[in-house]
Amino acid sequence: MKKKAIIFDRDGTLIVDKIYLNDPNAIEYLPGVFEALRDFRDQGFIFCVATNQSGVPRGLVDVKNLNQIHEVIRQDFAKEGVDILSFHSAPYMTDSNHFMRKPNPGMLLEAIQWHNIDPAQSWMFGDRLTDVIAGHRAGMRSVLLRNTDEYKKIGVTTPQESIPELICDQVIDSCSKIKHLS
Ligand SMILES: [Mg+2]
Repeated sequence: MKKKAIIFDRDGTLIVDKIYLNDPNAIEYLPGVFEALRDFRDQGFIFCVATNQSGVPRGLVDVKNLNQIHEVIRQDFAKEGVDILSFHSAPYMTDSNHFMRKPNPGMLLEAIQWHNIDPAQSWMFGDRLTDVIAGHRAGMRSVLLRNTDEYKKIGVTTPQESIPELICDQVIDSCSKIKHLS
C-alpha cells in the first residue's frame, strides 16, 4: 500500500536558516518541530527532507559537512522518536533550472519513488514559494510557513501553482489543520 508522507524543506522550515550552513554544531531547530513531527507520525505520515544547496557549487558548503549535518538532524529526530527516512539535496546554482532543484520536483519525485509514497495524500512544507511549486509539480499539496516574507508575495495575480493549500507560522501550528484536511 502506498504511504502518505510529508516532505520538508530544511532551512527556515525545520531548522533556522543560517545561510549556507556548513557546520553541524550550528544547527538550531525551529520551535516545536519535534513535537510536530511526533504528532504527524501518529497521524500515519512518513518523513523526508528536500533541500536546495547552492552553497555547494559556490564552494561555501562542503559535501562532507552537508552529509554530516543531515546525519546529525536524522539522529536528533530519532532521539525524539521520529524517523526521517531520507535527505535529498540539490547542489546546483540558483539559476540552474536543474530538474532536481526546487521549484522543480526532482527531489520530491525521488522520495516518492524510494518510499512508495502516494503524492495525493502527501504534503510539502517550506518557507518559500519554490517549495510550494515543487510540491504541486510532484502532485502533492503544499504548506507555506511565515518564516520569511514570501507569503506576502501571494496576490491576485499569483499563478495557481504558487498558492499553498495552507499557510502557517510554524510547522507545529499546522498539525490539527493537516489532520482535518487529510
Ligand atoms: Mg527554506
